Amino acid sequence: SSETEYELISKNEVLPMYKPREKFSHKGDFGHGLIIGGSYGKIGAVQLATRSVLSSGAGLATAYVPKCGYYPLQSSLPEAMVIANADEKKITDINFDIEPSAIGIGVGLGKSSETVSALQTFLKSNKAPLVIDADAINIISENNALLKSIPENSILTPHPKELERLVGKWSDDFDKLKKASDFSVKHKVIVVIKGAHTITVFGEKKYINVTGNPGMATGGSGDVLTGVITGLLCQKYNPIEATLFGVYLHGRAGDLAIEEYGYQSLLAGHIIDYLGEAYIDLF
Ligand code: AMP
Ligand code: MG
Repeated sequence: SSETEYELISKNEVLPMYKPREKFSHKGDFGHGLIIGGSYGKIGAVQLATRSVLSSGAGLATAYVPKCGYYPLQSSLPEAMVIANADEKKITDINFDIEPSAIGIGVGLGKSSETVSALQTFLKSNKAPLVIDADAINIISENNALLKSIPENSILTPHPKELERLVGKWSDDFDKLKKASDFSVKHKVIVVIKGAHTITVFGEKKYINVTGNPGMATGGSGDVLTGVITGLLCQKYNPIEATLFGVYLHGRAGDLAIEEYGYQSLLAGHIIDYLGEAYIDLF
């Protein structure tokens, strides 16, 4: 239909999604998140996303990175596990012996030709729920075969430039939404249009998030969102719940964090530090 449904997403809408922890639960109940990404000089993106997987509540997290990411991750994030690709500087194949509950792919990834083929092979065999971000979006945008192999119900989280590569130039905001919605319908995926009022598009439905602030316009804050949504998928939130709840929590954590850091000094890592407050603030 041409009718467009908009829904505002605030605390009232996400609260019913919240899954409390049972007293006798153990880490296996909360899933194992895998972040695949990184390239020489962009390992920090993976650190932020992996840390966010854990801070959003997943039981375990693993980072899959080029070899140069191994020691930085092991020493800066002892709570996570690391699998290193054979190549020093970039991901040249994606092979792991774990069974992740959800995967976030693309942060800091780069676009070398070996990385493109690795992504292609991975998409064909992957069964885990997927968050696709950053260079994974860019690679997919440039490759029609890859576009067709995106698994149904995957979550794509483009910032404006990435969205433009994915769906083409738009004439105005309505056209942008229409293009994102058409893409979502065609590929049966969730598209998160990141920005000041992040809009999640799922088929004909559109959800407008109310949290977040311009302090979050800083390097790495999108990587945090990728990790948060991946972490929620691990905890058995379904893809649309994980997306809406994740975008809400990420923005709320940013809102709480600027009370301490101010707009100018907020770093992406501070958003992670405030995820706990964002959860507590639900009640
Ligand atoms: P990225 O560009 O991939 O690092 O993603 C930026 C993240 O910060 C997204 O989650 C955006 O929604 C958020 N963000 C960026 N600028 C703003 C803003 N002015 N107001 C609220 N959120 C923002
Ligand atoms: Mg980004």
